[in-house]
Amino acid sequence: MPNYDFASEISIDITKKCNASCRMCWRNSSDGRDTSSEVSFPLIEGWKDYLSRVASISWWGDGEPFMYSDIEKLLEFILLLPQPTHLFSTNGRRLAEFAPVLARANLGEMIISIDGATSRTLEKIRVGVKLDEIIRGIQELQFQRSLLSLPPIRFRFLFVSMVDNVSELPLLVKLAWYLRVAAITVTPLVTHTVFMNEWQCKNVPGLEREFFLSASELANSLNIEFKHTHPGVL
Ligand code: SF4
Repeated sequence: MPNYDFASEISIDITKKCNASCRMCWRNSSDGRDTSSEVSFPLIEGWKDYLSRVASISWWGDGEPFMYSDIEKLLEFILLLPQPTHLFSTNGRRLAEFAPVLARANLGEMIISIDGATSRTLEKIRVGVKLDEIIRGIQELQFQRSLLSLPPIRFRFLFVSMVDNVSELPLLVKLAWYLRVAAITVTPLVTHTVFMNEWQCKNVPGLEREFFLSASELANSLNIEFKHTHPGVL
């Protein structure tokens, strides 16, 4: 019998802080949201009994989770919660730094936001993030897992498609294969200001479809999960 007193999956928007300045981020609009607010760590600690009984916890929201002010305490805290699966979505900048403790956690999928397969494209869009940091972070986390004789982490690339990066989808599949990333999700750009409209793939009919399909074929041949959140736009 399922236990209806406890949610099976919960998501906690721990911080709105970030260490990047992506050009398409909601922070570039003046919608009045506080870019520094956080859920206090003592509050999260107080939920321990409840959190220990849910099936999965997504530690993400509007900011970069590894910029949470008490991230060291939080990561030690999740080691005390071995039952839930812990999920993170990150820009990858601090992955290598926290790999030793992350490797010990009951991690579910680790989602990496990566909007380019070359340094030039990624770093133009995800300002402040380096492709090398992402690669090093993935490799370090898998290395730490291997030291503990634990199975590798399942990684997923999350790619926001835009007119000036979508041609790199096939190369992203190759990068995923090289890094043993299991899955790639492609999603259209959500615009927050009028000036972001020019980056939307729908401005060039057929463009996204062409590169999505060729990347999809390659991914299938390499046994990499490959999907689009809105296939109707293709
Ligand atoms: S990593 Fe996410 S929260 Fe940070 S600037 Fe980029 S889109 Fe915004």
